[in-house]
Amino acid sequence: MLDGDDWVITGGKRFITNAPVANLFVTFARTREASGKDPGIAVFLVPADAPGVSVGPKDRKMGQEGAWTADVHFDEVRVPADALVGGSEEVGYRAAMTSLARGRVHIAAVAVGTARRALDESVAYAADATQAGTPIGEFQLVQAMLADMQTDVLAGEALVRETARKYRSGQDRRIAPSAAKLFCTEMVGRVADLAVQVHGGSGYMREVVVERIYRDVRLLRLYEGTSEVQRVIVGRGLLRGGTA
Ligand SMILES: Cc1cc2nc3c(=O)[nH]c(=O)nc-3n(C[C@H](O)[C@H](O)[C@H](O)COP(=O)(O)OP(=O)(O)OC[C@H]3O[C@@H](n4cnc5c(N)ncnc54)[C@H](O)[C@@H]3O)c2cc1C
Repeated sequence: MLDGDDWVITGGKRFITNAPVANLFVTFARTREASGKDPGIAVFLVPADAPGVSVGPKDRKMGQEGAWTADVHFDEVRVPADALVGGSEEVGYRAAMTSLARGRVHIAAVAVGTARRALDESVAYAADATQAGTPIGEFQLVQAMLADMQTDVLAGEALVRETARKYRSGQDRRIAPSAAKLFCTEMVGRVADLAVQVHGGSGYMREVVVERIYRDVRLLRLYEGTSEVQRVIVGRGLLRGGTA
């Protein structure tokens, strides 16, 4: 709420990436009732050392050990008027939404790169590991797994390139980023699963790269909008006459 020239923010958000090491929080807060197309949300830059800001203990996650997350709480945190992004309640929110779409292209690209690594690890393992004296890569069912992984990776690569092109040109900054995030993050889940399968029991062991990838990529289908939310954005966008 506005108090004189200052904004006073109270609330919390779970699972904030880098919260334990952040100096600044980009904060979405409701400043007014939503009405029509106006969601009533503004964006603020809040220093982590502002009075009233507290960060919870580091979360214990399934994977992504390199990225720390924690809950963040604001208890009547006071920030000056110039903390409002874009200088108005509407401008910052629109800018933040655009950056979310760009983030989706980014996550899709991360998914493709990680899938490529899982495939490379699997090809190397299949060429090297033997079963009863036969390299497992000579079994056609193992080759089939590699072929399915490669096909998925190629499809993801092509989709990310096309989506990035459309994002940069401004042709599509809504449907394509969500469709790419949806496809590529689901794709890397399939690829990581097959990578563990190609590795057999070794794939379940902590010291093996594909075991870490299998856990790490599970998050990609959850954050920056779940797969279900991406489907909602794509479906709703098409019905509103968006670019396909
Ligand atoms: C490791 C990690 C890091 C994160 N980092 C950040 C961060 O830095 N900043 C940040 O703001 N958030 C972050 N998040 C939060 C993350 O974006 C959310 O957890 C995610 O968007 C899902 O929201 P939720 O947890 O509230 O689940 P919910 O929204 O409650 O979802 C539960 C289920 O309901 C489904 N669902 C929800 N809404 C709909 C709908 N409208 N239609 C159909 N199905 C629906 C979901 O798809 C899901 O299957 C992080 C989360 C994790 C786990």
